[in-house]
Amino acid sequence: TFRILHGSRDFAMALVEMTQQFAYLGETLRIIGQPHEIPDAPGAATIVPQKGDIVFTDVVFGYGDNRRIIEKFSLHIPAGQKIGIVGPSGAGKSTILHLLQRLHDVQSGEIQIDGCRVRDLKQDSLRAAIAVVPQEVVLFHRSVMENIRFARPDASDDEIFAAAKAAYCHDFIMELTQGYDTLVGERGAKLSGGQRQRIGIARAFLKDTPIILLDEATSGLDTQSEIEVQAALARLMRDRTVVAIAHRLSTVAAFDRIIVVMDGRIVEDGSPAELRRADGIFARMWSLQAEGLSVDDITRNMALRE
Ligand code: ATP
Repeated sequence: TFRILHGSRDFAMALVEMTQQFAYLGETLRIIGQPHEIPDAPGAATIVPQKGDIVFTDVVFGYGDNRRIIEKFSLHIPAGQKIGIVGPSGAGKSTILHLLQRLHDVQSGEIQIDGCRVRDLKQDSLRAAIAVVPQEVVLFHRSVMENIRFARPDASDDEIFAAAKAAYCHDFIMELTQGYDTLVGERGAKLSGGQRQRIGIARAFLKDTPIILLDEATSGLDTQSEIEVQAALARLMRDRTVVAIAHRLSTVAAFDRIIVVMDGRIVEDGSPAELRRADGIFARMWSLQAEGLSVDDITRNMALRE
């Protein structure tokens, strides 16, 4: 009897453990889960693009209904360029980033990275070339260490420390009760918004990719956190190609180039200084900003006027 009980206790423990693992797996899958998991093309290339030169050629895309979201979209982003995309809600900014990651396939035209069509690259190669810094960094109820390691599971502890230092995370992590072993709380509740964002930036450092896709956070941080996040981002962006959805004109001003996108098309393209001088949408946005409006307020008003 004892053995049976003992056995069933082990079994129960195993079940509990397994359930936890499944919960964790479920959580992980939800986070890395793509809208549609697109299979690798037969004979897809395993090489990982190293330079980060991006070309969109006549890309057309829609989400299955008849409506086209991206319309004959062509854009060359040379390696190392930092480009900001601005435009009203629904213009297709996120879709452009999704297509580059091949979360969906284009309907016609093509997208290349370093001369290789993304549809001919293995998904793993593509993921190893592109790091995404999202608006809201998703954290698991695990240690800080595991949360950073999530970006590259084979990373050594030293590599994680280096990434955390590069993202200005190390100091605040060391001040947590258990340092890198501190559990971050459900969805990172024990960390501030700015700290969560910097963990997201540490993940991108750990991946060390030639391309960074940035969806700039809209929620306001206090000035000190904002300075720290901006410093971490500036360091991350150095020597990499950056494609950013920009929500704040203050950060936009620091990019090499801005494109204004409306209805899936590029309507303005140039350096921030050039676009400010031109008599277009960006210049109008810039002057409205002086009235204290955010990019989102401004584009919302623009959308209403259409
Ligand atoms: P926002 O600034 O609000 O994030 P956006 O410029 O990033 O907007 P997208 O998210 O690219 O715009 O969306 C472009 C259009 O495609 C919108 O009209 C949106 O409703 C639609 N859309 C986005 N994702 C899907 C989807 N998975 N299925 C169907 N339609 C979608």
